[in-house]
Amino acid sequence: MKQIGHFVDGERIKGDGDHYKDIFDPNTGEVQAQVVMATPAELDAAVKSAEKAQKDWAQVNPQKRSRVLFAYKQLVEANMDDLAAMLSSEHGKVLADSRGDVMRGIDVIEFACGIPHGQKGEHTYGAGPEIDVYSLRKPLGVVAGITPFNFPAMIPMWMFGMAIATGNACILKPSEKDPSVPMRLAELFVEAGGPVGLLQCINGDKVIVDAICDHPTIKAVSFVGSSDIAQYVYARATANGKRAQCMGGAKNHGIIMPDANMDQAAKDILGAAYGSAGERCMALPVVVPVGEGTAEKFLEAFMPKLEAMTVGTSNDAEADYGPVVTQAHKESIEANIDKAIKEGATLLKDGRGFTLQGYEDGFFVGPTLLDDVTPDMETYHDEIFGPVLQIVRAKNFEEALALPSEHQYGNGVAIFTQNGRVAREFADRVEVGMVGINVPIPVPVAYHSFGGWKRSAFGDANQYGMEGLRFYTKVKTVTQRWPKGETEDSAFIIPRF
Ligand code: NAD
Repeated sequence: MKQIGHFVDGERIKGDGDHYKDIFDPNTGEVQAQVVMATPAELDAAVKSAEKAQKDWAQVNPQKRSRVLFAYKQLVEANMDDLAAMLSSEHGKVLADSRGDVMRGIDVIEFACGIPHGQKGEHTYGAGPEIDVYSLRKPLGVVAGITPFNFPAMIPMWMFGMAIATGNACILKPSEKDPSVPMRLAELFVEAGGPVGLLQCINGDKVIVDAICDHPTIKAVSFVGSSDIAQYVYARATANGKRAQCMGGAKNHGIIMPDANMDQAAKDILGAAYGSAGERCMALPVVVPVGEGTAEKFLEAFMPKLEAMTVGTSNDAEADYGPVVTQAHKESIEANIDKAIKEGATLLKDGRGFTLQGYEDGFFVGPTLLDDVTPDMETYHDEIFGPVLQIVRAKNFEEALALPSEHQYGNGVAIFTQNGRVAREFADRVEVGMVGINVPIPVPVAYHSFGGWKRSAFGDANQYGMEGLRFYTKVKTVTQRWPKGETEDSAFIIPRF
């Protein structure tokens, strides 16, 4: 059986731990590898060598740091096909989605290449008589990134891209469900000329997450995953005096106004609800048709598209989406569908018990559509994280606006309308961090930044963009005065001709 250890000091190591987790092929349901869980002592050794590497890296000028990142970006691009295949084989998303996963990570590396400009700091000349003030953004030292299973390329790159560009070393703790791509990304960093020890990849579970939160050398923790764990990591890391940004779960709504271009909205919502089997924190699992007759118009445009969807293996180029990540996750999604029906939802399309010929043990869930969902149902409040779309009908704009605003999660939201004034008011008033106007998945581009509100994010710094740069740096402000003519030397400093 293939075993995956850790990436430390520029090498793959076996690991000393005696506890393993299975990595599945979600297409067949078979175990394809095992990942070894690190011990706190192994984490400590990796942190020590990261600390050493960081001291030298912090002295490297920003242009040279940027050159390493440029070389890295090119190498990741050159390895795109291999990375995408590796990603699909452990995660189950189709190859086109895996390529997108890698590409969105590269976008952040590309932004990080602009670090000589981004980290310039600020300067005030003549803040007082002969007084100048300047502010520097210094790296924190060793930082850690803890990532979820659903974007094993993009989310690690969000974190270590910005951390390394700003002069830090990074300990990456990937999801134990699909660690191969993060391991390869760390290896490629060294192959691209990145200093050995600056990016370490330590695999593990709660034991290592706790050890990261408690480690005195680690100065900041960036976490992405489910909300309860995000809140726990935030509390534990900050209690130990660390900076923390902890992104959590989501339940994003798509509001359909009566004047929406219904065909386009239906197409967009189909991809956003079911793409990647709904395992995206920016998926749209709730749709809110507004006003009399809008739900019917939406369903008329939507149902033929839904019926034409194909579910296949992760390497089937024709498939819209592939299997979900584990059997346990498949069972949890199906249990949520059972529960929604018990709560009174109307099942318009049932994805339970879906099997694919030749892949009967794969973790497949068919596309599911539930109508007449209401805000008092638990399955409306909970994140299902599968190919399940719920329809919640709203009488008017105010009722539709209240749904995402009052929901426990506040990651993303989209409104479909042709009325600019309505869209503008919605974007202004909705209590959600990322808003799309006729854009179903409003993930901000790499030079803005990513972050939700409410239980979708704990901490006050977003991921990547200038927010990311600020998260990984601390400000030092120097106020200096060089008075004229007070010392003998002044004649020498300002030569008279
Ligand atoms: P998860 O919370 O199970 O795991 C995330 C990380 O936490 C993993 O590295 C895991 O090893 C670790 N972990 C798991 N249990 C732990 C525990 N008890 N104590 C300490 N650490 C623990 O999340 P997941 O299932 O891998 O990912 C899916 C979740 O991530 C969904 O809720 C999704 O919405 C969320 N997500 C959020 C964003 C965002 O930016 N808001 C992005 C992607 C995914």
